[in-house]
Amino acid sequence: MSDHHIQPLPEILAHLNVSPEIGLSETDATERRKKYGRNSLKDQKHVSFWNILIRQFAGLIVYMLAGAAALSFYFGDLTEGIAIVVVLIINAAIGFTSEFRAIRSMEALRKLSSVHAKVRRDGQIHVLEARDIVPGDIVVFEAGDVIPADIRLIECSNLQADESALTGESVPTDKTINLPDDATTDENLPLGDRTNMVFKGTAISRGDGSGVCVATGMTTELGHIAAMTEMAEAETSPLEKRLDTLAGHLIWATLGLTICIAIVGIYVGKDMVMMLKTGIALAIAAVPEGLPIVATVALARGMWRMAKRNALIKNLSAVETLGATTVIMTDKTGTLTENRMTVVALRTSENEVDFTSSPDALLAANSPEELAIRIAVLCNDAILLPSGSTEKHIGDPMELALLEVARNAGIDQTEQQARYPEIAKEAFSAQTRMMATFHRDQNTPDNLFVAIKGAPEAVIKNSTGFLENHGPREMDEKARRRWSDLSNDMTQKGLRVLALAMKNAPAVDTPPYQDLILIGLIALLDPPREDVPAAIQACHAAGVRVIMVTGDHIGTARNIAAQVGLCDATASGLEGRMLQATDLTQKTERDRILATPVFARVSPEAKLNLVSLHQQAGAIVAMTGDGVNDAPALKKADIGIAMGKRGTDVAREAADMVLRDDAFPSIVTAMHQGRVIFANIRTFVLYLMSCNLSEILVIGLAVPSGLPLPLLPLQILYLNLVTDVFPAFALGIGEGDRHVMNQPPRDPKTPVLTKQDWGGILFYGALITVGVLGAFAMALHVFNLGDQEALSVSFLTLATAQLLHVFNMRARSSGWIFNDVTRNPFIWIALGICVLLIGLTLYVPELSRLLMIAPPSGTGWLLVIGGSLVPLVIGQAAKIFTKPAKQPVSS
Ligand code: ADP
Ligand code: MG
Repeated sequence: MSDHHIQPLPEILAHLNVSPEIGLSETDATERRKKYGRNSLKDQKHVSFWNILIRQFAGLIVYMLAGAAALSFYFGDLTEGIAIVVVLIINAAIGFTSEFRAIRSMEALRKLSSVHAKVRRDGQIHVLEARDIVPGDIVVFEAGDVIPADIRLIECSNLQADESALTGESVPTDKTINLPDDATTDENLPLGDRTNMVFKGTAISRGDGSGVCVATGMTTELGHIAAMTEMAEAETSPLEKRLDTLAGHLIWATLGLTICIAIVGIYVGKDMVMMLKTGIALAIAAVPEGLPIVATVALARGMWRMAKRNALIKNLSAVETLGATTVIMTDKTGTLTENRMTVVALRTSENEVDFTSSPDALLAANSPEELAIRIAVLCNDAILLPSGSTEKHIGDPMELALLEVARNAGIDQTEQQARYPEIAKEAFSAQTRMMATFHRDQNTPDNLFVAIKGAPEAVIKNSTGFLENHGPREMDEKARRRWSDLSNDMTQKGLRVLALAMKNAPAVDTPPYQDLILIGLIALLDPPREDVPAAIQACHAAGVRVIMVTGDHIGTARNIAAQVGLCDATASGLEGRMLQATDLTQKTERDRILATPVFARVSPEAKLNLVSLHQQAGAIVAMTGDGVNDAPALKKADIGIAMGKRGTDVAREAADMVLRDDAFPSIVTAMHQGRVIFANIRTFVLYLMSCNLSEILVIGLAVPSGLPLPLLPLQILYLNLVTDVFPAFALGIGEGDRHVMNQPPRDPKTPVLTKQDWGGILFYGALITVGVLGAFAMALHVFNLGDQEALSVSFLTLATAQLLHVFNMRARSSGWIFNDVTRNPFIWIALGICVLLIGLTLYVPELSRLLMIAPPSGTGWLLVIGGSLVPLVIGQAAKIFTKPAKQPVSS
């Protein structure tokens, strides 16, 4: 451990050669980056190229192929042995490329959600990627930030850090600039007691501050721990796990079956070597080895699609859960609304300024209006850059809007800050819904000026006076009611209202929120996003409820909710404190809350309770959040959704999904994708398993019935490569059924394959078998085509039937010509490739000889066409004449 906590701060600053007001220069920073390297932990989760490659050669299939090759070489069949080795290599190559791409793209996606930090360089605050921070950087942080490096504090207000990631201690630690006296020389002070430092990877849970970076990357305390711990396991989603188990069971079932077939074959007098090879080939073909990997590929592709539409998935299992979501709890500001705030009006006791009609209304000097705007500027964390500046403004859109209206009115932020230097601050908290700043005023040297802004109810409640043109008046009950009414009038119009107040205080440790003098109310407009009403309608069509949970005022919340069609104007709304007061043991009360579409002034704890309540009622809950205090609710929700632009790092860490554009419609598109991915994986499994079953049945039935073998080992292997890979993958990555969002959500308890699906697999497998064996038997016994041609007929029938079977995989709700399968371009590409590969077996002499196939005669072709149409025609007819499944999402 290092001793940055006991070194005197001036010494550290001198050693790092930096002044807190200016920070490092860019050139300095570049040099230091060369010297110290990037501020990142070594990439622990990176799966190497070799790892993925080696994985392809471990596994049952490979052993079986190797066994088959050995057998061929042993019996002197050189070409066949080599062919099997080629199959082995192709198999591995396909597995490798798809898995490699899937894993790399997921890693790339995870990187997109990287942490940013505010750093002072060359006297200005810049927002940098955390990995660009170097020792000596002056870092500024506030509640909700994840600390990017180890930092010795220079300033702080009200600062608390959640260091559980580092120390395991779940209670946040209070931070101060100085250590307690008895600790100032203790070199081995436990990390949790180093209260004058904050550490990489921990989170600020309250307050704000700044400090100097003393360690980066692997030299941080977190880096020491990371170096000690083992490489983290790559995560697998429950769906992948279930598919893994399914594949495991199927492997043993197929092995058992093929062994039976081989034994029966030998028993009825077939050539033993031939039967052994057939058995092995069959086992290889029928084992659904592609199952888990296709799931990974489908999930990865789905993640990409979502990322392109602004939803970053952090957690693979979220993709699955998204499709089953039944309730979305969303906040208002920035998710349903634009979060582009403009100040529309300022209301003081005797006056109203309308900024929409005269945006640069000049305010009379020393009027309550001017004082109100000055408070809005002083009690403000945002930084409005000079107009024309190319860099982004820093801070909350609401606070920026306040600065903007002030600038238009001729009140400049820098000038105000110079005249009334800020010496202390009570940071905004979601509990008090207020914030305060303490300022020195040259005119009144022994009195501090305190500027306060916050939610109107909170400020009005704490005010004992208010300001009129001629001076302060007492805030009696009547006045209080009048101010509340003024505020309610504005919220009813959907405006966001802030109250501005002031007081004088003798010292910085005076409680900031007592005996306030209310100066005015300021109304901000934050219009609903245009695309939200359609998205909410889509949710309703998809059987998903949308509930607004906001920290804003009930009037504003109801108005916006009605505007976006979340509920009608008469629908009920509840305030957070009513929620707390409700007796949840009573069913009627619970039902009333479950039915409420709008919750206002909700505290983070109430959010958590609301999530649990809905979950207990059986809902799968997706919940948005942006603040530090939202983290528990985000974790508790089945899908935690954090905001990429507005959200705090803490919320992003806790979430399963990050919305890059903060917009509600992105949740809906992600949900759509979640459903599609699940449906695709299911379709893929259905297809693969019915094809595999048909292969087993074709051989398994032919052997005891005295027919010759309808398929040779190498033919089976070849078909396996062709049909298992291309059409199956194409099904796995399609865009999905257009109606998928017109159906209720999937019950998360239903397995990947329902009883009905198993029935379908049997049915289709049997149909293909009937077609193939029918064509084979007719070729032999009706048309007397001869063994050789009959063999070609059965091979081609099976190949074509499996290809056509793809069209049976359409969603039940879709049309039988235009549907999710025919619209999927990958299907057509896959079919093209397959036809080409099968054509090659007919017309490339070497391949024909190897596979013992020749182009059949006209009669032969007719049999192929007839036989391969059986599953498609009967399959489609069955789809039309049978009742749709009870669970409408499954086809
Ligand atoms: P929302 O869900 O609307 O984002 P918040 O929890 O962020 O709700 O804010 C709740 C209320 O607290 C706001 O309606 C506003 O009145 C007040 N508020 C929000 N941010 C600030 C701030 N920076 N300073 C003072 N008051 C604030
Ligand atoms: Mg907010």
